[in-house]
Formats: sequence, C-alpha cells, structure tokens
Amino acid sequence: MGRVVTMNEPPVAEALFIEDGTVVAVGTRAEVLALAGDDVPVFDIGQNVAYPGFIDAHAHWIGDREYYGLESAAEAMDAALSRGWTSISEQWVNPERLAELTALAADDALPLRVDAYLALNEPDLGAHFGDWYTDREPGPVGDRLRVQGLKVTLDNGWGTIFNWEPADLIETIGRANEAGWQISVHTVSTEAHEMVLDAFEAALGTTGPNPLHHRIEHAIQVTDDQLARMVALDLATVVHLDGAAADWVLEAEYLGHFGPDNPGEEIGWLARWRDFVDAGLHVAAASDTPWTFPGFALTDDIGRPVDQIAGGMDGRGRANPETPAWVLDQLLTAEQGLRAVTVDAAYALGDEARRGHLAPGTLGDVTILSGDVTAATPDEIRAMTVIATIVGGIPAYCSDTELCGEG
Ligand SMILES: [Zn+2]
Repeated sequence: MGRVVTMNEPPVAEALFIEDGTVVAVGTRAEVLALAGDDVPVFDIGQNVAYPGFIDAHAHWIGDREYYGLESAAEAMDAALSRGWTSISEQWVNPERLAELTALAADDALPLRVDAYLALNEPDLGAHFGDWYTDREPGPVGDRLRVQGLKVTLDNGWGTIFNWEPADLIETIGRANEAGWQISVHTVSTEAHEMVLDAFEAALGTTGPNPLHHRIEHAIQVTDDQLARMVALDLATVVHLDGAAADWVLEAEYLGHFGPDNPGEEIGWLARWRDFVDAGLHVAAASDTPWTFPGFALTDDIGRPVDQIAGGMDGRGRANPETPAWVLDQLLTAEQGLRAVTVDAAYALGDEARRGHLAPGTLGDVTILSGDVTAATPDEIRAMTVIATIVGGIPAYCSDTELCGEG
C-alpha cells in the first residue's frame, strides 16, 4: 500500500497485490484489498514509492566480478539487488560462464533474474567462437535464468579496432536471426554502425520488422542517416547515461572513425540519447557494470538505476566533472529515464509483456525507493535510497526491517 508507479495505465496506483510471484491486481487501496481478502499480509510503504523492478539490460555483474573485486556470484548479485536491480543481463557469457549460471539456476541460487547473452567472439583479442549456440534454443532455464540472446563485440571501446569482417558479420547475424536468436552487437563508432546496419538490413530487410528485438549496444557515435536506418529497423538501443559520460573527452577524440578521409565528423554524432528517444527507438539505459566504474571500484554511489536516470537528466559524468555543452542537447526527462530502466529495458530483453511495468499478469518484481523520481532533481534522485528490492513477490533485499521483517 502506498504510491505505486506502474509505467502502465493508470500511471500511479495506491496498491498492488502479488500472489505466487505474479501481479494479480493494481489499483486503489479499496479495490485491491477487496480482491486480496483478509488473510493476505499487507505492507504499508509509507512515503516511499514503488516502481516496476529495475532492469539492467546490459552489464557484467556476475561474469566480470573479479574486475571489481568480488569473489562470488552471490556477492555480485547482492550488489545488484542492493542497488535496486531485480533483473540483470549478462552480456558476455562464454561456455564456462553459462555453466556457472546454469548451476546457480539448478540450485535455486539466483536471487534475481538473469538474462544471458552468449558470446560469439573475444572482445579484445578478436578470436571468434563459432556458432556454439546451435545445440540449444533461446529461452528459460528454470524460473530466474533465461538464455536470451547472442553477443557480438564488433568494435572496441573507442570504435577504433574491429573484430569482424563485414561479410562474416552479415553471415553470422543472418544465421542467428534465421535460428530465432536475438543478437546484441557492441557498436561504438560510426564505421561500426555502418557495418552492423548493413548486416541487420541483410537479415531483416531495410524496414524490418524486428520481431526478435535485435539490439545495438552503446551506440556512441551515430550519424543522422544511421539513426534513420536504426528507426526503420526498430532496433533496440542500449546506452549508459552515467558511465559513458565519464569518458566524453576521449570519445570526442576518437569521434568519426569512419574512414580516415571522412570530412563529416560532427560532435553532434556523440551520445544521441534524446535524438534516439525522440525518434521513437526503444532506448534502455544500463550500467555496463563494471566497465563504467572509475578504476573498477565498486562504491555505494555507482552502478545504480538512479544514476542512470539522474545522469540522463543532467549529463553529469564521473571522471570528468565538466559536462560538455553538446551533451545538454541530449538530456532526458525523469520519465524518459525511468522508461529506460523499466519498459524499454524489458523490451531490450524481449520480455516486455512480463517485466518493466506493473499490471495483472506481470512478474511480481518491484523496487521501492525512498522518493518519487518523477518529482525530483537529479541530485535528489542520486540521494534516494533503495528501501526494498522484490523479486517474484519476495524481498531479496531490504534496508527497512520494519517494512520487511527479518528479510
Ligand atoms: Zn558491456
């Protein structure tokens, strides 16, 4: 009971009823109490605000935990839960990592939802793994784990080194699409965008549709023409509203790696969040944990959904305190930032029917924050605390023992 932001109709409700892991009712206090009956425990969240469970659509919480100094998968998942994520997507899962996730799922040891994307190549060394996914089909492995898609790392972090030949990329994406796998492609530079758009167009045609929700990851440097092609294909687009901002100066240095003689390099190609949203793309905002952490240090004020929302609103990075003027054109509203960690993040995972909003039939994943994101400044949002992170109706993290009991 309290203020519930649904990201659906009606946008705000007073009460939510979750039974057997699924939302059964959303509505007024009286409506929901009438439906729930007398013997259902009632939790009053007071002045706190409930949201659909936040979804980190691109990260490496579990797989790259050694980079940020965590020993176990359990610790990594707890770190994500305490920041308010109910779902994390592991964006580079090799056979060893898949075995670990599968074992965790079999042991009922996943306190949150994990969407795995199987890696088709090494990010830096360029080695290709082949179509090792063909002996399986995408889909759920138990209640909490989905093997959802494939991951291609097309270029490096600055868009200057390419791991794929154009023809090979076209063939690989074509085969995966044919086999029914969603593909997410790490794409930074304009040159890489040209390659990946050619490959998606070869698989889908120039105007889509894109029923598998193929994705572009990072989308740092995009020309107007490429944006139009992304819209025509309806590609899901995943950006980082706080972490990448830390590196604006370097990104600007590498801008326009589009062929050495290309005269059309423009600062306006960088980080076009607002242009993406205004053009109607589904834009997810993700932490890319731990790759956006300065010095790979996990501190309490990093890797959180609130950092994505606030970063989108004021464009403030971490490593560079100065916000470049050109970022200001691309700022988002709180509502747009909220969509990017809920509705559109669920779309990027191809699971928008069950996650990212609260309505009868959706999963009972809820994040409770100490304040209302839609009525706060970016710094007020950064200062909000996570009261509880609820997965399938069960509090998996709780900072308010009065509210959650011993949980
Ligand atoms: Zn990543």
